[in-house]
Amino acid sequence: MTKQKQIKCPYCHAGASLRPASVVYGCNRRSQGKFLYLCDRWPACDAYVSAHDRTHQPMGTLANGDLRHKRILAHRALEHLQQVRHMEKWEAYIWLQAKLGLSDRQAHIGQFSDWMCDEVIRLCHQAAAPLDGLQPAA
Ligand SMILES: [Zn+2]
Repeated sequence: MTKQKQIKCPYCHAGASLRPASVVYGCNRRSQGKFLYLCDRWPACDAYVSAHDRTHQPMGTLANGDLRHKRILAHRALEHLQQVRHMEKWEAYIWLQAKLGLSDRQAHIGQFSDWMCDEVIRLCHQAAAPLDGLQPAA
């Protein structure tokens, strides 16, 4: 169950190891009980990805600070679209799969590259824009 997966850092090609999240985040509520795959060259190389709580499998590919930020923005863009279109989360992902021509196994923002995240943000904004004006100002 806690068997570590052999993965490599896509930036510096060092190995990545399953470590407690407190290594990166410090000991706080955010890191409590959490694990992540961290590049063995950290902190010189700032690449990591969260691991699933139960299985300890990586949630996607290792990402540096820029890519982690892009993935957050892509998630936000998709959530926004979901809201304005009154979609369920799974419906939003089906929509995304169709737009990007991906299978359900591939359509995880945690696995997306910088370029793919830009595509998600662009597509979501495009699809949400006609509806944005109809929403009461937040
Ligand atoms: Zn690295």
